[in-house]
Amino acid sequence: MDQARTFTPRTAGGWLGVEPREYKRDGDFEGVTRHTIVTGATMQVRHFDVAPGGYSSLERHQHEHYVIISHGSGTAVVGREAHQVHEGDVIYVPAGTAHQFICAAGAAAPLGFYCVVSAERDRPRLLDEQELRALDGTPAGAVARRRLPA
Ligand code: MN
Repeated sequence: MDQARTFTPRTAGGWLGVEPREYKRDGDFEGVTRHTIVTGATMQVRHFDVAPGGYSSLERHQHEHYVIISHGSGTAVVGREAHQVHEGDVIYVPAGTAHQFICAAGAAAPLGFYCVVSAERDRPRLLDEQELRALDGTPAGAVARRRLPA
């Protein structure tokens, strides 16, 4: 691959020369926009916006996430934990740990965050029924958007 651009300026609606992309093709999510800002030799920087009432998929995978909240506020689910997050907060998602980012329906603005990942990484996997039920009674389970089979 050609060397990545060394400077990607912010613009009014995103980043210069970066088109917003579909978040994911399938899964259980709502109102998420993704910008892949730069892909270097080993790492990638993306930015996500979660609209009010939206949420990212509740998933796990072997690659880590390093997340920095850029604007708005919301809730981050990491394993059995749930955290209220605001601009400037940093969230680390260890390998194999379930995670989800949620923006409250009544929020005044989207929840925005940068996410740094390995450029080469495994595919995310949605939680199975047993993993979803294991969140019962935890802080994560109280706030996670999860669809349990009837
Ligand atoms: Mn993920």
